[in-house]
Amino acid sequence: MKVIILGAQGSGKGTQAKLLSESFKIPHISTGDILREEYDNKTELGLLANEYTKKGLLIPNELVNDIVKRRLERKDCKIGFILDGYPRNIEQANFLSKIIEIDKVIYLKVSEDIVFKRLAERMICSKCNQIYGINKKPKKDEVCDECGSKLVKRQDDKEEEQIRTRLRGYEEKTLPLLEFYKEKLIEIDGSGKPIEIFKEIMKKL
Ligand code: AMP
Repeated sequence: MKVIILGAQGSGKGTQAKLLSESFKIPHISTGDILREEYDNKTELGLLANEYTKKGLLIPNELVNDIVKRRLERKDCKIGFILDGYPRNIEQANFLSKIIEIDKVIYLKVSEDIVFKRLAERMICSKCNQIYGINKKPKKDEVCDECGSKLVKRQDDKEEEQIRTRLRGYEEKTLPLLEFYKEKLIEIDGSGKPIEIFKEIMKKL
């Protein structure tokens, strides 16, 4: 199953992608996670991408297209994958359609109010990228339940200004993808609890 998961930041994409990946035993490919890892390793790509990310901007299409193409060519993607955070605009979607056929596109719809509340609370594991927030608190403060590493605030979740820039970018560039993928689209109300949303996705898939 080759799936894209679409939604604003804070819509719960990462959480649902992880659940789907575990359930279908297919890789969860998050371009944001790949870029954060590159940055943590201080690679040239990571440092360059961070110049855009810290301002709430998208990185250039050529860079992210190349990352995704190389990742999808790996053996573990043969039976399927969940793409999270890609494509983010029509140019990326056109590029993707030339290299692979997608089966379904899940769209998690949430209001801006909810997005702000969730982002204010969101913490991620500095090692395994597990996401914590309103709906999932760690057992021990600021420590990941899964691997015991430290939880951190994402660099681009810290200021309201950055979040607003990202949301405007999402509306302008990413929302037109709903029309692009209308034949494959599954729309889901993303405002509830993660487990309920997951059940709804499984039902509609
Ligand atoms: P995310 O974790 O998906 O919110 O991504 C974090 C940041 O990485 C974004 O704000 C962008 O700066 C960059 N990024 C991730 N995916 C893409 C993409 N498909 N196109 C351009 N930039 C991206």
